[in-house]
Amino acid sequence: MLLIDAWAREEVAALDAQNLTRSLEPLATPQGAVISIAGERLINLSSNDYLGLANDPAVCTAAANALEAHGFGSGSSRLVVGDSTLHQSLEAALATFKHTETALLFNSGYAANAGIIPALMGKGDVIFSDAWNHASIVDGCRLSKAQIVTYPHADVAALELLAAQFTGRRRLVVTDAVFSMDGDRAPVKALRALCDRHSMALMVDEAHSAGVLGPTGAGLCELEGVDADLHMGTLSKAFGSIGAYVACSSTLRTFLLSTVRPFIFSTALPAAACAASLAALNRIQTDASLRAKLHENIRFFSAGLKRLGLPSHEDSAVFSVVFGEATRALDASTAMRRAGILVKAIRPPTVPAGQCRLRFSVSAAHSTGQLQAALEALAPLVAGLKGITSPHDANRHSRESGNPLSAK
Ligand code: PMP
Repeated sequence: MLLIDAWAREEVAALDAQNLTRSLEPLATPQGAVISIAGERLINLSSNDYLGLANDPAVCTAAANALEAHGFGSGSSRLVVGDSTLHQSLEAALATFKHTETALLFNSGYAANAGIIPALMGKGDVIFSDAWNHASIVDGCRLSKAQIVTYPHADVAALELLAAQFTGRRRLVVTDAVFSMDGDRAPVKALRALCDRHSMALMVDEAHSAGVLGPTGAGLCELEGVDADLHMGTLSKAFGSIGAYVACSSTLRTFLLSTVRPFIFSTALPAAACAASLAALNRIQTDASLRAKLHENIRFFSAGLKRLGLPSHEDSAVFSVVFGEATRALDASTAMRRAGILVKAIRPPTVPAGQCRLRFSVSAAHSTGQLQAALEALAPLVAGLKGITSPHDANRHSRESGNPLSAK
């Protein structure tokens, strides 16, 4: 056996012992309210395709047309020869959507966060990061060599104290707009005011709110009338596409495209992906009924969870029912599947140990009947759960460090 395989065997055994080994399940169908896996037709409550655009005819046709015109591969990073008119058009359209001077595309939300934060922040700087921020933000902070101060989830009062305590050359507060595992919203208005009081910049990740919240679907900051210093969003969720963007000034764009390592050292998105995102953006901007239907579904699902005695919200399309240990969440997922519902168990490192859960994503593509079927399948599983099912009062500690005030 290769040495590397011996190492892997040891590690997999350790993961197995904790029920933390993961596996892949190939879909035989496009994303949608109903999918097929290994011949099994399932109602899909696990996709971030919040508006049902991943298989939208207009989106797919735009991608197909762009394939005809541009081929598939982009050949190199954008800075070499991978740029195209479609990349530029998408950036212009995103800037208009976000009311900024310009925008810059990245290959994924992960690449954007992991690249932008270290480009902006370094030794001598301080980053204040919400304890529930997405792993890509956590990793971006770690790569930056700045001092990282993890503040208790959404706790503006605690952050105020920390801001008075931790000084540095440049200081940045970074937060998810909608938290990816619990679906609650960041207090962006209060964060903006706090940043102004303490001369700090605010970066907001609109991954789960762009296309979902705000009068035109631009996200939580639009809804709250907040101007973040740095608006980041993904094209992989409500847009049903792939990639991410920063909407910003042209000065910031020039700086980022010259310094962000995942931008410089990675091959560009295919032009066809940009065409798909452009078509999705057009759908978001011209068909308000998509968002209206999503919010109708959010209200329906939220009311259903409350009827089951579970705490809920109407903040976003993401709902968590926390089961505790990994085996309990896995068993719940299996039981849901037997009832024809696909809702995956979420385990560490995505959530802290002891907070394993079913994470439900509601989409505009779901019918009321499909959401009702999911609620009915869930009902017998949550009877014994009272007390540990709150997404909002779950332990206020960092997803990954376990320490609410960790300053590294
Ligand atoms: N930020 C947040 C808040 C996310 O939830 C995610 C994905 N789950 C990302 C960034 C990464 O985006 P992508 O999937 O496009 O890499």
